[in-house]
Amino acid sequence: LDVIRGIEPRIADAIGAELHDQRASLKLIASENYASPAVLLAMGNWLSDKYAEGTVGRRFYAGCRNVDTVESLAAEHARELFGARHAYVQPHSGIDANLVAFWAVLAQRVEAPALERAGVRQVNDLSEADWSALRRELGGQRMLGMSLDAGGHLTHGFRPNISGKMFEQRSYGTDPETGLVDYDAVRAAAREFRPLILIAGYSAYPRLINFRLMREIADEVGATLMVDMAHFAGLVAGKVLTGDFDPVPHAQIVTTTTHKSLRGPRGGMVLCDDSLAEQVDRGCPMVLGGPLPHVMAAKAVALAEARQPAFRDYAQRVVDNARALAEGLLRRGARLVTGGTDNHLALIDVSGYGLTGRQAEAALLDAGIVTNRNAVPRDPNGAWYTSGIRIGTPALTTRGLGTAEMDEVAGLIDTVLGRTTPGTGKNGKPSKAAYVLEEGVAKQVEERAADL
Ligand code: PLP
Repeated sequence: LDVIRGIEPRIADAIGAELHDQRASLKLIASENYASPAVLLAMGNWLSDKYAEGTVGRRFYAGCRNVDTVESLAAEHARELFGARHAYVQPHSGIDANLVAFWAVLAQRVEAPALERAGVRQVNDLSEADWSALRRELGGQRMLGMSLDAGGHLTHGFRPNISGKMFEQRSYGTDPETGLVDYDAVRAAAREFRPLILIAGYSAYPRLINFRLMREIADEVGATLMVDMAHFAGLVAGKVLTGDFDPVPHAQIVTTTTHKSLRGPRGGMVLCDDSLAEQVDRGCPMVLGGPLPHVMAAKAVALAEARQPAFRDYAQRVVDNARALAEGLLRRGARLVTGGTDNHLALIDVSGYGLTGRQAEAALLDAGIVTNRNAVPRDPNGAWYTSGIRIGTPALTTRGLGTAEMDEVAGLIDTVLGRTTPGTGKNGKPSKAAYVLEEGVAKQVEERAADL
């Protein structure tokens, strides 16, 4: 930090303060973790300075032998860890990985047949008329994914995201009684909508998804099954999710982030079967610019870490901790979406405490508990204020907390939420953002949280 301080002290201070904040608070954001020093060091070095557009052995720049080593190793670790036929480790983030996957499927299912019909090898050889027709066809495809309020992700075809502008989207929700995915309803929606891509995966669904059933549905309607395992990749790597719940043997294409439960650097990755490998490797330059060699190095290190037996133990503890946290909350009277969890996250319906998600998130932060608000199914407060708080255990498990501490964390959350009341806005009217946390509670909880 001293080197940075000599140039821009405010950045050095922000980095130092971030380290303090992340250590002093309870990090319960389900998508965050603590990467190891080895992962962080693999990112902060001279590889960052290298351009390497293209793929291993086929670059548009000279001098890429070290980047080739890095990228090959990251891909090899990914293939072996997940049992995948092919791995593409260049995407800079989860959203990029999804874009690469969408375009790989579009290239395979729409573009390649169009080129064949026209009797040419590449799009540049198409006549103007055929090119216009192809662009219309590419823009008219359909995607079926989980609805946002059931826990789906914005990149799964929703309007504010590019995916929603590329695809005509329809979503499947969860059963109103159980809160679980209803596979019969997914099947019915798929039969009616006939999507090109059936997408499974989530950011805020606290249960497991049966990918064997999802593949059956996709096959029945001629869709490609894509699974976005950004959230639960660490549980797949750690062999907690196996059989029907491991997406890799079932989906034609799987995307992930590398920084959530997988505990690597910020980034994304695509795994696929042989039929899509060539199209996926065209991610750069189709969707991506030059890869980030330093981040690919850190991915290789994180994936090597995830291949160690200790990572299996970690993944199991993440799930055990989530269950203990959920049970601790339920015992204290909290309401959880679906009544519990089978993975690394849970969703508290804070309307049970008379609060919006926004009020609950802010009150918890005052007490040193970092979470994020999240819509619950059919949320009356919408996506901004919400009625939910999403909590996850990957980060606290990395810090070494176990099930006994999780019960205590549940007690701290319940104390804060139970002693918070909705406040009034500047105009004196009830507000969905303002809140009043009883005096002294924040300090008391914060001190206890810092000790854990
Ligand atoms: N997919 C899912 C399921 C996610 O939860 C997220 C991130 O929250 C993403 C994709 C996007 O990842 P990134 O933030 O790295 O672009």
